[in-house]
Amino acid sequence: MNLARSTTLAPGREAAIALMYGVSAFIASPVRVGIEAFSFAWHALLLFALLVAHTRAEPPLSMQQIAPGEYAHRAHDDIATRANKGDIANVGFIVGTRCVAVIDTGGTLAEGRALRQAVRQITPLPVCHVINTHMHPDHIFGNAAFVDDHPQFVGSVKLAQAEASRAENYLRALNRELGGIAEGSEIIGPTQTVDGTATLDLGDRPLTLRTWQTAHTNNDLTVYDEKSGTLWTGDLLFVRCIPVVDGSVVGWLDDIARIKQMNPRHVVPGHGPLDPPWQQSLEAEEQYLAELARDVREAIKRGATIQQAVDTVGLDQRDKWLLYEVYHRRNVTAAYAELEWEQ
Ligand SMILES: [Zn+2]
Repeated sequence: MNLARSTTLAPGREAAIALMYGVSAFIASPVRVGIEAFSFAWHALLLFALLVAHTRAEPPLSMQQIAPGEYAHRAHDDIATRANKGDIANVGFIVGTRCVAVIDTGGTLAEGRALRQAVRQITPLPVCHVINTHMHPDHIFGNAAFVDDHPQFVGSVKLAQAEASRAENYLRALNRELGGIAEGSEIIGPTQTVDGTATLDLGDRPLTLRTWQTAHTNNDLTVYDEKSGTLWTGDLLFVRCIPVVDGSVVGWLDDIARIKQMNPRHVVPGHGPLDPPWQQSLEAEEQYLAELARDVREAIKRGATIQQAVDTVGLDQRDKWLLYEVYHRRNVTAAYAELEWEQ
């Protein structure tokens, strides 16, 4: 699979050219040429002003073509910071003959706008669906950039409730972490929900959407592009970055077994490299979660407190995952709270 093709833009280049024309027309406008040159310069400057206004929009997000008509953005392997502008979740879009489906929109309105610009560079077709793979802020806060396109915002039947319960915290955290970069970011909930499976047709491009039992979150949804055999896993698959349990470790392990059965040709994970060797990546994730469940169950069985479990479980995983220090202890806590009810 060729991932080498990527698109970039030189925003404002047209504006600079227009300004050059304008200035040179002023310089070269002695009285003898008079009104004509002045008029030309005036129009050139007007054009410049218009282009500046236009290019104030975000430059397009860098995209990689992962299959014909299918584009993904490789995000930073990090938590949201002002340096990475909250661009920490892989996002993308798929183009049919009739319209475009966007899959996740990034961590801010600005990133959503940049993604929209990237779509516009590739195709004039309308955006008919904006799909959210789950509720987490790095996947949804760009939605507002697409409101004027009047798409269906698509998510799990459980997405709206999950977003509502976290909205206040998410917005507070976003503003704290990103300040002005997050300006205008808001939660735009689903207008079309999925419970089980659903098919979206973009015009000769059917996408199969599927919801899952509680795993990474209680509202995980995957997108399978039949044409290319690509499965967009959302955060059901983390590559290199440590998996984050915000749902159920038991449910997630069960989902992993089912994803293996789907046997996709390619995967786009929510975090980490695009189109990784998916069997290997899924197995690494499965191993982490299986050991987490096993060791937490053992800790509970021997009467360890939650703090003792946090201090002892999974220490050998430290060097295997990015962001281990940020999320591993939280995962142990979540697994403990889930698994102590099994006893
Ligand atoms: Zn997530």
